Amino acid sequence: MSSVYWQSVGPRWTCPRPDVLPATLDVAVLGAGLTGLSAALAMRAAGLSVVVVDRGRVGDGASGRNGGQVLTGLNPSYRELRRIGGADAPTWWAQGAAAVQDVAALVERHHIACDWHPGGHLAVAASPHRWRRLLADAALLAADGFRIGVLEGPAVAERVGGSGYVGALFDRASATVNPYRLTVGLADAALSAGALVVEQAPGTIEGPGSGWFRVQVGGRAITVQRVLVATNAFLPELVPTLAGHVRRVDSPMLATGPLPPALAGRLLPGRPAVFEESRRTAHFQMTPGGRLVFGSRLPDGTPATPAALGAVLRRVLPAVEGVPVEYYWQGPLAVSPAGLPTLGETPGGIRWVGGYGGHGVALAVRLGMAAGRWIATDRPPAWPEPRRHGGARATRNPRRRPPAPHSGETTR
Ligand SMILES: Cc1cc2nc3c(=O)[nH]c(=O)nc-3n(C[C@H](O)[C@H](O)[C@H](O)COP(=O)(O)OP(=O)(O)OC[C@H]3O[C@@H](n4cnc5c(N)ncnc54)[C@H](O)[C@@H]3O)c2cc1C
Repeated sequence: MSSVYWQSVGPRWTCPRPDVLPATLDVAVLGAGLTGLSAALAMRAAGLSVVVVDRGRVGDGASGRNGGQVLTGLNPSYRELRRIGGADAPTWWAQGAAAVQDVAALVERHHIACDWHPGGHLAVAASPHRWRRLLADAALLAADGFRIGVLEGPAVAERVGGSGYVGALFDRASATVNPYRLTVGLADAALSAGALVVEQAPGTIEGPGSGWFRVQVGGRAITVQRVLVATNAFLPELVPTLAGHVRRVDSPMLATGPLPPALAGRLLPGRPAVFEESRRTAHFQMTPGGRLVFGSRLPDGTPATPAALGAVLRRVLPAVEGVPVEYYWQGPLAVSPAGLPTLGETPGGIRWVGGYGGHGVALAVRLGMAAGRWIATDRPPAWPEPRRHGGARATRNPRRRPPAPHSGETTR
């Protein structure tokens, strides 16, 4: 079974292969997901010539397969962020909300029909212990000036119908989206802006020479001045020294058939994005057509199958018992040691960005554009670098320690 989002456009979007690929260009971007396409848009705005190359199709990676939650905040909890970021935590956290606004602005500017729905998000807790953690986050966020709604008891059941949740934090600034439509919409926008997009052409990088790289694009060598690797979970495949920066995690998702209208209206009124503060980290949203899109970690050792994920769905939302599962798919996430996105430059001058965990819909767009501007201006973007703040998680496990030569080049 494949992603419900791929099916939503009828035949898959495809990019006509350019008749002629130039021998030289300013920049090659490897990876045509949200990161690479957003970077290409930013570079075209600065007048650079760009080719975006994907070894599969646009949206084949996480960008076309995710849960469609466009979330404020960052992967680490606010408690954790305070620990690793200290006084910088509020500035870092604000990047998440700014990223949601970046996506909204691109959707509007490029008229991308992607079911953009600013319904907010609920972070929900299924146990008093988890709820105490969320309340601690809420208190810290409020102290730092962030507005978060706190819902308890019947108020939660009204927002997530019939659930057993103890409490929820509500952030109205988040949204939901059809992520595949968003991704191909950005590809259309990049093409209109004059970028080249080449599908089904695995990119390999040769160089650097003096001021150049050579990128193989489906049998054609293109010489470029800069390379941006935007392959997220596959970063270490192209740049093996990045193995300590991101870890690939394959995550399963399903979509039900359309819920009966009465149940759809009762289950998630207002259609917020929902994610659990829990070990299984279940997350779900409802499409405009009333399908429930649901993802979760599976109990340890359980093989990832539609039946196994369906069983978790029915435990989390018993009200959907009897509603068929019509789509099942998996996708590749990239998780960084500190839970924060990573960007930088190898000693040879190859730039990379990725590692957004479950916050990549918004952050890949923001950091993709930031990486594009970085290449256009050579001014590094301001982005958190936890190790400079004593980020224990980034360095505690020596196997995950980022290789020393990069540490000076990771930007702030
Ligand atoms: C199941 C799932 C659910 C998720 N849910 C959410 C969510 O609800 N909200 C949220 O914010 N985030 C979510 N995420 C995370 C989010 O989808 C990602 O962080 C984001 O899409 C990353 O975008 P990207 O462009 O960096 O990477 P990708 O979209 O993965 O793109 C990388 C591309 O690189 C290509 N590639 C690989 N190697 C090469 C090569 N050698 N040459 C050329 N191309 C290559 C791949 O084919 C791929 O198209 C989810 C992820 C998954 C997997």
